[in-house]
Amino acid sequence: MTESTAAPANLPEKIRHYINGEFVDSIDGDEFDVIYPVTNETYIRAASGKKADIDAAVASAKQAFDEGPWPTMLPRERARVLNKIADIAETRSQELAEMESFDSGLPITQAKGQANRAAENFRFFADLIVAQVDDAFKVPGRQANYVNRKPIGVAGLITPWNTPFMLESWKLAPAIATGNAVVLKPAEFTPLSASLWPGIFEEAGLPKGVFNMVNGYGEEGFAGDSLVKHPDVPLISFTGESTTGQTIFANAAPWLKGLSMELGGKSPAVVFADADLDAAINATVFGVFSLNGERCTAGSRILVEESVYEEFVERYAAQAKRVKVGLPSDPTTEVAALVHPEHYDKVMSYVEIGKEEARLVAGGGRPEGFETGNFVEPTVFADVSPDARIFQEEIFGPVVAITPFKSDEEALQLANNTKYGLAAYIWTSDLKRAHNFSQAVESGMVWLNSNNVRDLRTPFGGVKASGLGHEGGYRSIDFYTEQQSVHINLGEVHNPVFGKQ
Ligand code: NAD
Repeated sequence: MTESTAAPANLPEKIRHYINGEFVDSIDGDEFDVIYPVTNETYIRAASGKKADIDAAVASAKQAFDEGPWPTMLPRERARVLNKIADIAETRSQELAEMESFDSGLPITQAKGQANRAAENFRFFADLIVAQVDDAFKVPGRQANYVNRKPIGVAGLITPWNTPFMLESWKLAPAIATGNAVVLKPAEFTPLSASLWPGIFEEAGLPKGVFNMVNGYGEEGFAGDSLVKHPDVPLISFTGESTTGQTIFANAAPWLKGLSMELGGKSPAVVFADADLDAAINATVFGVFSLNGERCTAGSRILVEESVYEEFVERYAAQAKRVKVGLPSDPTTEVAALVHPEHYDKVMSYVEIGKEEARLVAGGGRPEGFETGNFVEPTVFADVSPDARIFQEEIFGPVVAITPFKSDEEALQLANNTKYGLAAYIWTSDLKRAHNFSQAVESGMVWLNSNNVRDLRTPFGGVKASGLGHEGGYRSIDFYTEQQSVHINLGEVHNPVFGKQ
């Protein structure tokens, strides 16, 4: 191994569950392999959780919730702990990024950005709970009403392998901020960075049992499935594939659990002829190739107005060829290794399908000098027809489909022509068109003349097969709390049916 493929310092000897303040192995002793995406060799073993481990983790969380003090602490006291979590994560962001990058194959500079964003999530929800105002309604002389917000209990948090630490923080921060206790089930491909949460939480003073974590697979009989089916978990927040979301929806139905689902995407980036083409090309290259293309909101279908189409395709392909593929640990790398050989095979199968369906204008294979591991060249297909599989299906890698359009109507029809509806990016200098298009496009989020930059106060979520419900900002507070209405009589007691008593 060369210096830059060496494992990070402080690697734990094994990845364990964390239940009731202790690192523990699985009750049945089962483990699984975790691989390094650059060589696909096993570099660590992780405990593989089943129903019995989930039962123990839920019991610990339930006890911490029922007996307190966390759910009844003053918001300011909880916020102090959250801010401390943010400070520690920020101080350790280099270490976090090294672990994340090694485990997931993300370029190190991008992993560092994600670690800082994770810290920011905790700081943001600390601010939000301190400033939280609850609704009150008055009927003068008759009634006053107010809303009591209460934490719900044990929240089950199930997360994917793309930007794992940041996506975990996205659920952990609001769930804990609002006074719940949690059981986290991290993605099985990337459990390493999550193994740092217990140390961070302990140092910040989070009471024992509020945070629990069970590693392992999601399928029936394993950790994810057992968490969804646990009767003492009234709330499941899930991020992952749309088909997994459907399974979880069905499995949670008998208990009518609260569900939040952030699912897959095949988001359009629509470039009109009047757009600033330089900015549009830069942003759409970043939008699909950053995070190795393993980004739910990737603008992976680019729709370009006919009069600038050939110029756009030529310049886009040239820029895609300049994207620097390299080792995850190299700070100059822009695209590194996909997370796992199974995912590499899936992405490469789409590259082969694309060669049959469309015109390949950049990439399309394994980059030179990377004979092992999950490296894919930034790949660009042009003239992609709307019924092509590479137009319709989520690839979740550094692969983009470009399609021409002739009119605003056709652009909208193409933009909405998939089962997904997560994000849309619109490039035009015509304000009216931008806003009208935003209103008509079927997506949970729209960026106008912009990269994917999100203000943490805004709702995040998708429509159609991209999700159910929104998180982000106050939407997260709503999801993780019950809202109880309290009605107070200020006048005489009336009975509308039987008259005055
Ligand atoms: P996945 O659905 O395969 O797995 C996600 C998590 O669910 C993992 O922890 C897995 O173990 C668990 N799981 C699997 N089956 C389960 C079951 N039956 N019951 C309970 N848990 C189960 O997704 P992935 O491949 O890890 O992640 C990539 C997907 O996530 C992509 O589709 C991507 O678009 C999506 N994603 C969406 C968003 C968003 O905010 N909309 C963000 C990131 C990723």
